[in-house]
Amino acid sequence: MIELNPVTYNEVPTFSDIVNSKYNPRKTRLLEEVASVESRTDLQRISFLAESQLSIVQVSDTVKEDLQHCFTVHTQPFLEIQNAIYSPKCNPTGQCGYCVVDTAKTIDHYLPKEEYPEFSVMSENLVPCCGHCNSKKKTSSLVFGSIFNPYYSSIRISQFIQCSLSLTDNILTPSYSFIESDDTRAHLGLLHSHDEKFSVLKKFKDKAGLLLPEELGSIEIYNVCMNTDTVVNLYRQREKISIKNEGANHWRPALYGSIASYLSLPGNFPLILSHN
Ligand SMILES: [Zn+2]
Repeated sequence: MIELNPVTYNEVPTFSDIVNSKYNPRKTRLLEEVASVESRTDLQRISFLAESQLSIVQVSDTVKEDLQHCFTVHTQPFLEIQNAIYSPKCNPTGQCGYCVVDTAKTIDHYLPKEEYPEFSVMSENLVPCCGHCNSKKKTSSLVFGSIFNPYYSSIRISQFIQCSLSLTDNILTPSYSFIESDDTRAHLGLLHSHDEKFSVLKKFKDKAGLLLPEELGSIEIYNVCMNTDTVVNLYRQREKISIKNEGANHWRPALYGSIASYLSLPGNFPLILSHN
């Protein structure tokens, strides 16, 4: 769940460039599809912006196979599109567009190429993502409003992830949830169904659970040489830097923020825990 910058088709080769790099007889058949694919591409952008369902157009099996072939059998123009999608300009952190936990090593079709073969190589339909999320996404067709679109979901620019620490049996445990605010309320259904699909909140908790013991070890050292305000400010600074590097909806800044909030509560600093 990250904000990706779409690579628009002005910056990369067009569908027509890909078709022209194919061999006959496929090339001749695909040339007949160029006009309709281009008009569908405009419609698709409008539907992404409106976050609304785009109708499915039935095509013959041959046309479908030809359109999908543009993705499955790479050509030089398509490789240029792929490189642009993986580039720091599009994906500054290099992490999965759906979970922002693992490295993006695969490309997912936001609109599945089985149902929407005309968008098989359209850059704004291609989401860099991790293998886990890609395989989870494949198991069903897309229901609009159920999966976060890292290029277009309007919620992507708001902060919607929070972490809190709870103390049980003298052990601090992180947990993640979605923020309920005026900015996020209309999108909570989308965020929860996205989480159901990709287990993002659990992935965040697992990652934070690995880092937290290290942080608690550091805080026990700060116990002897810093006051509460200094340590809280230190974690607020780390939160800010991490938001800059990884985005506001990443597990790491949310964890730093939760540590700052926890330590600022009366009686929580100096911190004394059996954290191992
Ligand atoms: Zn992922």
